[in-house]
Amino acid sequence: LSAEAQRVLDEIDDKDVEFLRLQFTDILGTVKNVSVPADQAEKAFTEGIYFDGSSIEGFVRIQESDMRLKPDPSTFAVLPWRDGHSARLICDVIDTSTGEPFEGDPRYVLKDALARAEEMGYTVNAAPEPEFFLFEEDEDGRATTKTNDAGGYFDLAPKDLASDVRRDIIFGLEEMGLDVEASHHEVAQGQHEINFEYADALTTADNVGTFRTVVRAIAAQHDLHATFMPKPIPRINGSGMHTHISLFEDGENAFHDEDDEFDLSETAHSFIAGVLEHAPALAAVTNPTVNSYKRLVPGYEAPVYVAWSDRNRSALIRKPAARVPAASRIEARFPDPSCNPYLAFAVLIHAGLDGIEQGLECPDPVRENIYEFDEEKREEYGIDTLPSNLGEAIDALEEDELVLDALGDHVGEKFIEAKTAEYDDYRVDVSQWELDRYLETF
Ligand code: GLN
Ligand code: MG
Ligand code: MG
Ligand code: MG
Repeated sequence: LSAEAQRVLDEIDDKDVEFLRLQFTDILGTVKNVSVPADQAEKAFTEGIYFDGSSIEGFVRIQESDMRLKPDPSTFAVLPWRDGHSARLICDVIDTSTGEPFEGDPRYVLKDALARAEEMGYTVNAAPEPEFFLFEEDEDGRATTKTNDAGGYFDLAPKDLASDVRRDIIFGLEEMGLDVEASHHEVAQGQHEINFEYADALTTADNVGTFRTVVRAIAAQHDLHATFMPKPIPRINGSGMHTHISLFEDGENAFHDEDDEFDLSETAHSFIAGVLEHAPALAAVTNPTVNSYKRLVPGYEAPVYVAWSDRNRSALIRKPAARVPAASRIEARFPDPSCNPYLAFAVLIHAGLDGIEQGLECPDPVRENIYEFDEEKREEYGIDTLPSNLGEAIDALEEDELVLDALGDHVGEKFIEAKTAEYDDYRVDVSQWELDRYLETF
């Protein structure tokens, strides 16, 4: 037993934890868990816990369904909403037939991306800015799209009625070991954002899963439904998950260069170029739902055009002002909180590293509001657009070897299969908009 695992066992004892939730994530980003009595903890660390992988989205075929969960002791956290008697451990998934990490485990896909970074001499830090809506429930406890407040960007109470809920959410997150940096009411009614401290990309991806779980659980305690759906209400701002990324080399920020006009190193410029080059295929992973593309439209602070900027927020990538060199980073503004964070970070990292490896030339930043450009002007600036729907994004993914490689054969195939089915199902549906528009007209 490792020293870290032993510490977890001691803590389980000290805190009278009764149940352990062994967590992992399916390809679509949903957190799954197997609950075991706490006295199984030692066995979980030494032998692992076996489960049937055939019922997990995209994991395995029925005939090869035995998987083993291997808990990562550094992820131990007591759940704040079970009177302290349940704790979770995030697990790696092991293929029992080979004893190797299971290729269909999204956490493995991210670890693989980080291994490539390490081979190139880099560690990767990431920090997300997840946005979400809080909606009222109806009498049956089902989610509505009625917001419980009328606040706007950075509004304070009493208009921001949700600040109590947000405070409870923040306490919950801190109990789970997340360092909350800031929280505020977002632009739209009922919309919120909570930022947590950056960490290495794997920890941050774990944290995103924790974040979504805690936010939903605490909101439910207030009889509210928290949703990370990217665009729940048409014609107002949707919810993004801006993702800040930086590379470190020998303990120094590899994105910083004070001699550069934008304080960005050659490495950072090439990283940006890599992300821009693969943006349409990346979108299939960072914006993986039908609804994601309702957010990526002009006019609502979400990116549509493939460009970067040191100022304006209509671009895909922004270079935020950094207080100190160590804080130099880029902000990818296209991801949304419906993504699988492991897969989203993995593909972003691979695309950026590829830009570095190939020494890709970064285009000039675009400082004007790109929403106001017409097609001609966009052509003159060489600005591409993101896919306008999930179908186009899947097409772009199918043609992008680098992004497919980043996902690996197993995840790539299952992801495309699931997303194609999702898009096909949407395509044959008839929406309320169509009925309102056509039913009585024709
Ligand atoms: N909600 C916007 C988005 O969809 C972002 C708004 C903001 O953070 N300023 O990305
Ligand atoms: Mg923000
Ligand atoms: Mg925001
Ligand atoms: Mg931001």
